[in-house]
Amino acid sequence: MRKSGVCPKCGSKDLGVERDFRLPGREFLKIISCNKCKFVELYTIDNDERERKIRSGNIFLWSMMIIGFVIPIGVVLLFVI
Ligand SMILES: [Zn+2]
Repeated sequence: MRKSGVCPKCGSKDLGVERDFRLPGREFLKIISCNKCKFVELYTIDNDERERKIRSGNIFLWSMMIIGFVIPIGVVLLFVI
């Protein structure tokens, strides 16, 4: 389905775009659905792509932590100075 671009169930070429799908166990998958019969196929992703996603998730966490620290400190400094 991913390579052929054809739904194996109904033969339609009207497939949805490939989307990211994340299982609760931190497993990343790709999901492709057929717009005609709503059949869904799941794909595992490459290891390096998975690592990139985990890393970008970590960067997001870090930036949230930094923002969470910087804003209160900035507010305190504004009042003190
Ligand atoms: Zn289909």
